[in-house]
Amino acid sequence: MEDRCDFFAYESCDLCGECLASCRYLDLEVWEAREEMNRLQKGEPTRVVHRRCISCYACDAFCPRDCHPYELIIKSWHLRYRERGLPVRASYLMPASRPNFRTDLVRSMNPHEKELLRRWRETPPEGEIVLFPGCNALALPHLLDASFLEGVVISGDFDHCCGEMYFRMGLFDVVKQVADRLTEYYRGRFIGTMLFVCPAGLNMFRNVLPKLFGAEFPFRMRYLGEYLWEKVERGELVLAKKLSRRVAVHDSCHGRILGEEVQETARRLYAAMGLDLVELTTDPKGGLCCGMAAGCNRYRPEDMYRAAVRELREAARTGADELAVYCGGCQLTLSLMRWLYPTRQPVRHLLEYLKEATGDPAYHPAPRRALRILANVTVKALPKMLSRRTYRIRM
Ligand code: SF4
Ligand code: SF4
Repeated sequence: MEDRCDFFAYESCDLCGECLASCRYLDLEVWEAREEMNRLQKGEPTRVVHRRCISCYACDAFCPRDCHPYELIIKSWHLRYRERGLPVRASYLMPASRPNFRTDLVRSMNPHEKELLRRWRETPPEGEIVLFPGCNALALPHLLDASFLEGVVISGDFDHCCGEMYFRMGLFDVVKQVADRLTEYYRGRFIGTMLFVCPAGLNMFRNVLPKLFGAEFPFRMRYLGEYLWEKVERGELVLAKKLSRRVAVHDSCHGRILGEEVQETARRLYAAMGLDLVELTTDPKGGLCCGMAAGCNRYRPEDMYRAAVRELREAARTGADELAVYCGGCQLTLSLMRWLYPTRQPVRHLLEYLKEATGDPAYHPAPRRALRILANVTVKALPKMLSRRTYRIRM
């Protein structure tokens, strides 16, 4: 296989250090950030980055020259995987494993949700407007069971993984296989526009898979929130009920990379529903991670817990009624960590707010589903914590 691991724009980088100096997890002065970048570029061991990086992806957004410092950091994880494989304790969390922490949730879903998943699995991805649910919405199918999505063809299954998790762990060889599989799957299909509910799926399909891994997709791609906002502006989606609550706004990693298209659109929708927004940071690129990505470096659940608690604490300090997210992965992760670090703020998804504002029945399964993940991970993954065995992902 062609060796794909160097995605950093060495020739554009002027070693300004802004990427790592802006990182809220490394805590570096600019001169230290420059030194670390220098070491990274030379392939030398870093003093801080590989110890403290939680794979939040924000350094790509911080770089003013679009050099992709994040891909330089995770390159060493790619080399680590090539050399040693993955520890078996990570296998239950991998999308290619059956079962995994998401597919195991299906058994606890109600019959209507199971029927939705069956329908989306069997519906071919063809039509003027098609929606890619992605694994987070497949774990929370009620998000897309909305009257305002009538007429949209929803097509997808756990097998059509966008590869986001593999990319975040630096498993570039596996991401290349994902790119090839999805290229083959969508080849020759008629799809006008593909909508993505999850910013991660959109960023993978639009940027990562084609630009870094050679995928080809014959359709236009849009964030679902933007599509819905246009409907609101045209008066086709009426937000009849005003939601008079204060919500702290959490951004997702891919939301920060995609910028206004996702971050601004989500905020416009929240505000249009009457929600009073409380920002957690003054810089839209500088928000904290939900904790999901923090397991990518050392594969340790305590890293995920610490990262999530940091965000839960920041949100709690605002005194807002709820914590608003637009990524299903953030909702599940933060809801799960609230069982371990209880706060008074339920974690609500943008689409749950939209359903409430448009009069759809309220249904909030994320906390119970997160508890189910916690129980399953405890039984199926934690016993492997001390194992030194490793394995390689087979697609
Ligand atoms: S990925 Fe996130 S934690 Fe890691 S260096 Fe970049 S900004 Fe910091
Ligand atoms: S990657 Fe970008 S932000 Fe980081 S040192 Fe290079 S030019 Fe500066």
